[in-house]
Amino acid sequence: MRPGLRRLWAVLLVLLALPVLPAAGARLAVPAAAGLGEPFVAALTAAEELPGVVFHWQGADIPAPARRTAAGWRAEVLLGTDVGKDAPGAFEVRAAFASGGARQEAHALVRIAPRRYPEQALTLPEAMVTPSAPNRERIAHERAETERTLAVMSPAQGWRLPLARPVPGEVGSVYGLRRVLNGKPRSPHRGVDFRAAEGQSVLAVAEGTVILSAEHFYAGRCVYVDHGQGVVSAYFHLSRALAAQGQRVARGQAVGLAGASGRATGPHLHFALCLQGRCVDPLPLLEGGAAVP
Ligand SMILES: [Zn+2]
Repeated sequence: MRPGLRRLWAVLLVLLALPVLPAAGARLAVPAAAGLGEPFVAALTAAEELPGVVFHWQGADIPAPARRTAAGWRAEVLLGTDVGKDAPGAFEVRAAFASGGARQEAHALVRIAPRRYPEQALTLPEAMVTPSAPNRERIAHERAETERTLAVMSPAQGWRLPLARPVPGEVGSVYGLRRVLNGKPRSPHRGVDFRAAEGQSVLAVAEGTVILSAEHFYAGRCVYVDHGQGVVSAYFHLSRALAAQGQRVARGQAVGLAGASGRATGPHLHFALCLQGRCVDPLPLLEGGAAVP
């Protein structure tokens, strides 16, 4: 690349990383770049009170009440892209809020960069790879139920970083894994598989409300917890659920026991973290995981 062009690029990248300052002096901070599938925090801060904050990302409106901090006021949301739904590109985060009786808006760009995920070939019983007609109907019904569950949007922020680890075990299969089942490419892995023994306690990663406790074809016995602002955690292949639909759970409370129900080759925990319906790589957000940008 010519030096002049390189300098232009450097200036453009710095401009992309700079927060936009709206009239009220509120500051919207987002990372300049995130990998496809990687979660990130968007934070709106100001010296004065920030009423009625609503973030906007990828078609979702996310209400986020601002909290008082030592430096002033701060509203934050967890955002990300889904390896099974999204593509790289530059996308805008907007934060609207009330100031002096008028609606203000701050915006910033996040570059979603390509990320290469590993590939894995698996051989499973053909009935599990190509479901029968009645099972296909059941799967479609359960997929719709899951989509409805992940579309939940409650304003109270139950999540806090870092999130608790749902089980202490090592990671067996990473998020984003491109799976080839019986020679056929399938949708990428939209969660993390942790090693877990049958009957081991599975803990809620943050406080929240159980919004779905069900028995699904692929996920087996599964529990979904709403942590507010579109942040939902899901725990699959359980041998038993310990929390009922509608129940409030604390961070670190057992929501189930690990197992091998549904499509599983052995006992493990498939853990998914979905943000406004987009399932992201949860590892960077977990206690002991990689740092958040
Ligand atoms: Zn899995």
